[in-house]
Amino acid sequence: MRVARLLAFTPLAAALLQGPITVGQTTITNEYPERIAFEVRVASAAANVETVDLLLTVRGDTTTRSLRANAVPTRRPIAWVEWDPRPDGVPPGVPVTYAWKVRDAAGNVFTSPGETFIVEDARFAWRTLEGDDLAVWWYRGDDRFGRSIFDAANRALDRMRRASTADIDDRLHIVIYADDESFAGAQDYVQEWVGGRAYPSMAVTVQVVPPDAEADWIEDVIPHEVAHLFFYQATHTALSYGPPSWLDEGYASYHEFSSHHRDLRLVRDAAASGELIPLRLASGSFGVDAARVDLLYAESLSAVTFVYEGWGENGMASLLEALRQGADLDEALLQVTGLDFEGFQQAWWEWLGGEPGAYPTPPWEGPAPRTPMPTPTDRPVPPTTTPSPRSDVVFPPFPICCPLPLAAVAFIGAARVRDRGARRSWHSP
Ligand SMILES: [Zn+2]
Repeated sequence: MRVARLLAFTPLAAALLQGPITVGQTTITNEYPERIAFEVRVASAAANVETVDLLLTVRGDTTTRSLRANAVPTRRPIAWVEWDPRPDGVPPGVPVTYAWKVRDAAGNVFTSPGETFIVEDARFAWRTLEGDDLAVWWYRGDDRFGRSIFDAANRALDRMRRASTADIDDRLHIVIYADDESFAGAQDYVQEWVGGRAYPSMAVTVQVVPPDAEADWIEDVIPHEVAHLFFYQATHTALSYGPPSWLDEGYASYHEFSSHHRDLRLVRDAAASGELIPLRLASGSFGVDAARVDLLYAESLSAVTFVYEGWGENGMASLLEALRQGADLDEALLQVTGLDFEGFQQAWWEWLGGEPGAYPTPPWEGPAPRTPMPTPTDRPVPPTTTPSPRSDVVFPPFPICCPLPLAAVAFIGAARVRDRGARRSWHSP
């Protein structure tokens, strides 16, 4: 394993001092995904150093971890501690802030100022393209490849900004693995068909994009991911309700650069044949049935397209802003469209050509709808053959299952079956 030895990002060359306690410069040894080790010399002029704790805060996480460092109780010990980031669900590309809290036997306590570094997967030699608003990391593929991802992301972000009153607070970080195996190696656990993972609260997305990926696929998956990250920042505050998956997914799919003709037709066909799944069920996980997941994604796109067609970019911007201000979905829709969610569903149904009043009404409790299209296989993209996986994502507004303590990751359905092959990634709420 390549071990990257990183010097501390401490701006002060000299030791930090408060009262009798000093904290030297930190050395970080990066062996991610296995571990990240921290080492520092501390000292107290008053008494033996009793405890040294490393405080870690991952961007987007409201909790701070405290790790007790190893240190011999002397006046000038070297303290060291290892952090295993994988069980914490910490992805590459996320900024982490650390600080030392030192206590001596005389009762003096000093917490050093926070310093920030970005987690990198130490197994690869990363290349980076960075701007003020987003950054891309990749390790296989030439400059043109990295530039194609960076440009697609920037164009998508510009488009969303122009059409919105919202903006981003956190720079968006896009980490590109060249193959499934390398991606999976950075995960604590991942199903073999998963082609990426998004962490909207951390403003990070980690995707598998081989250097020979088709350009039009890059121009779908990257804008889609950027849209999820933008959507989160545009709608999320401590006050806000989690928006439903159909709005998040539909917004992301709407911002893909390719034509959506096929998806929109799929929904119209489903409406005509009585196969439409009520939009209310496009919340949380989309399940595991490939055809159902495919239809739910298409319906999400269709409903969002309906918002754009009916109320324009200003309408969507107002909807996001209302959610950010703490409105629930009913309230936000009422403000923008004059319709509550039930009314909105009905109007969408009629826009699809449905008969007034005949919307598949609640409660609709069936399992999967009858499959409106053939389901080729349940795992259409074996990890070893991945021609050009389409990584697709859902950000559920609430944790459905929490296999990882930090990234309360929701499991999203089986692979979506599309002509180019389709896969999904996970989002942490
Ligand atoms: Zn998505």
